[in-house]
Amino acid sequence: MRRWLFADQLGPHFLDGAHQPVLLIESKAVFRRRALHRQKAHLILSAIRHRAAELGDQAVHLKAETFRDGLRQYGEVVEVCHPTSRRARDFVRAQEKVTVLPPRGFVTSHEDFAAWADGRRGAARLDDFYRHARQAHGVLMDGDEPAGGRWQVRFNDAPHQTELPPPPAPVEDDIDAEVRDDLDRWAAEGIEFIGRDGPRQFPASRAEALDRQQHFLVHRLPHFGRTGEMLAGDPWLAHSGLSTSFNMGLLEPLPAVRQAEEEFRAGHAPLSSVERFTRQVIGWRDYLWHLYWYLDAGYPAGVRTPGRSSIPSWFATLDAESVQARCLSSALAAVRDRGWAHHAVRQAVLGNYAVQRGWRPTDMVDWFERAFVDGHEWVMIGNVAGMARHAELGSVTTEAHAVSGTHISRTSDFCGGCRYDPRQRAGTGACPFTGGYWAYLHRTRERLHGNVRMTRALKQLGQIPDLPEIVAQEHDRGDRAP
Ligand code: SF4
Repeated sequence: MRRWLFADQLGPHFLDGAHQPVLLIESKAVFRRRALHRQKAHLILSAIRHRAAELGDQAVHLKAETFRDGLRQYGEVVEVCHPTSRRARDFVRAQEKVTVLPPRGFVTSHEDFAAWADGRRGAARLDDFYRHARQAHGVLMDGDEPAGGRWQVRFNDAPHQTELPPPPAPVEDDIDAEVRDDLDRWAAEGIEFIGRDGPRQFPASRAEALDRQQHFLVHRLPHFGRTGEMLAGDPWLAHSGLSTSFNMGLLEPLPAVRQAEEEFRAGHAPLSSVERFTRQVIGWRDYLWHLYWYLDAGYPAGVRTPGRSSIPSWFATLDAESVQARCLSSALAAVRDRGWAHHAVRQAVLGNYAVQRGWRPTDMVDWFERAFVDGHEWVMIGNVAGMARHAELGSVTTEAHAVSGTHISRTSDFCGGCRYDPRQRAGTGACPFTGGYWAYLHRTRERLHGNVRMTRALKQLGQIPDLPEIVAQEHDRGDRAP
């Protein structure tokens, strides 16, 4: 039967055999419904069209106003792998001529995750799931024991700075030129985008994704997790830059971690880096995916709040120039210029600022999803809800993320050239992240009371003499660009 592929199901592992007939539909309504980053829109269309070109006569490629129109135009029965959002799942289930198959592109199945989580009676923790996945799939295992004797391998040395070659930039072709013309035309028709257009930065085909993966394995994996956390002049550090390729289905996670393991076994990459990469791919990524479905509509950030967005327009529209706080301006500029920033910037700067200001988690999920080329609802809900609820996702745990400017100062080179002082909580020159942190703790102290991770911070809060001044100052700052 012909297999309908969504734009995040484009790799060969979404087909049964190399010759299965394929249906690809471009829905213009996807771009009309919400303002996406221009480079995200480009990547989606470019990837669909590159796949159609690769498949040639094997694929029916339709351009339609909506998916419903596309299916009607095709007219025959098709099958589709389980889509990656609840909205799309509900849509495909409601179609008479569509058979829905189990999901692909992840390591652990829904059934396996549910059996594992059900057995934990509400304590479905990431660390535990990660061990389960390593054991179940035999990744980085020496018999029954984890390679090196520990599930999470600590680095023996301090983070170090190494100049690493950036990931190879894709070379744009005629398909990209056509996509750019179409998007220019759509923009002239009134379809809105955020961010700047620019040369495509991320793979749109399987071949490009494999090239980037290979480059990562050779050049960056040996340093993965070991370089400094945030540098204004280096957007990539040792990050893999593979998230778009995994999330568009161009790369398959299990073969990727097996290749990383081979690099370790061959002595080309240290266990600490390979274990951390493995944890990100078959631990954290799969865990977020499964929580999204396991908790379904009960997932706290999953229900969009109606009404006006709580996010101020300078932030929502990536207006980096209106921001003087160097870390925030730099983070917004990175997203504006490439639709991507690595996870430390997302958490410690962008997400942190939103948490401190109390912006609605649902609005942040929506923003991250639209502004980031690798943003999908299933990824962003877990990340944003974890940040916003300060590690209190009921029974499941995610990383806490409200931090002060002194943390940003310790983990980046942003503060040196900033007009604010990260140590200053109040007064002219007070860092908005430091003042904002204490004001946030003050505002949420009752909810945070009893959270063991916050005990020390709450004790410090009680000893700050100028707390009323800080709270008043941050109240006055409000949502103005800092
Ligand atoms: Fe950001 Fe504060 Fe550092 Fe400025 S001083 S870069 S606002 S953390």
